[in-house]
Amino acid sequence: MTIRFYVQDITLLSKLEIRFSSVDGMTTHLGWSLSRWKMSRGWNEVMVPIKSLTANGAESIDNTMVSIQVSVTGTGGAIVFDSIYVNRPSKAAVIFRFDDGWTTQYTKAFPILKSYGYVGTVGVISNYVGTTGYATLAQLLELQSFGWEIFNHTANHPDLTTVDPGLIRSEIDGCRQWMNQNGFRSASDIVAYPYGSFNQDVLDAMQGYKLGLSTQAELELAPPVSPLTLKTLTINNDTENSVYEAAVNQAVETGSTLIILLHRIEDSGTDEMIYHADKFAAMVDFLAGKSIEVSTFSEWLL
Ligand SMILES: [Zn+2]
Repeated sequence: MTIRFYVQDITLLSKLEIRFSSVDGMTTHLGWSLSRWKMSRGWNEVMVPIKSLTANGAESIDNTMVSIQVSVTGTGGAIVFDSIYVNRPSKAAVIFRFDDGWTTQYTKAFPILKSYGYVGTVGVISNYVGTTGYATLAQLLELQSFGWEIFNHTANHPDLTTVDPGLIRSEIDGCRQWMNQNGFRSASDIVAYPYGSFNQDVLDAMQGYKLGLSTQAELELAPPVSPLTLKTLTINNDTENSVYEAAVNQAVETGSTLIILLHRIEDSGTDEMIYHADKFAAMVDFLAGKSIEVSTFSEWLL
């Protein structure tokens, strides 16, 4: 089931609840709720596995539902509903998103994904390419030749919300220009905000860009309702396997897309940005047992 709604002011809301009932008067129902911290300002699209609805009384998904009740709690503010629909045909997908263009994305992640016939995407910081710890131009071109996609992660990786609004554009345009000049045209207009950080000035500066990648977690559907704040699941050194397993299972059940963000793939180390290669291999192996497609951003948008 997919619910699409618009939130005007997130700070005034507390919770959204939807109930479905097979009887008049809602004496029994199946319920679902979403708290504020899982919503974003603007358009939201939330994929709910039908079996995760909570039964109240002797209600069952096998019954024919005759009424829907929507309740919004908070101190004010409005939620505008666009649609609730079920069985929309869509395929489950995963996009591996590697930010910053670290060398180990080429030396460690690439061989693991390649052995499964999978591809990834790399967010390149154009002024860091070929410097210590970062992949070289030749390595990025090789990834691209194997079907990987290189996307824009700015020229110098500043927190864009702290940059003079007049200079935000030079960060994203600078990277795009470098990418276009070096053969990475397919996703030079797809931008990952450094530190996942954006505000209205940043969104205004994205005029003419196709996608903006946030670090807020949840699933997506193509085409996305809020293309400039695409959601992502961030995987850190201490992320439990159960976190991505649950997200992958939810994507499979709802036919939605999970973007998985990783940074450095290394054999050891405790830095939060490091994810151990053996754990990454286990993640990829888990995916291989699922009915889910591994995609790049531009394939996914087609
Ligand atoms: Zn980054």
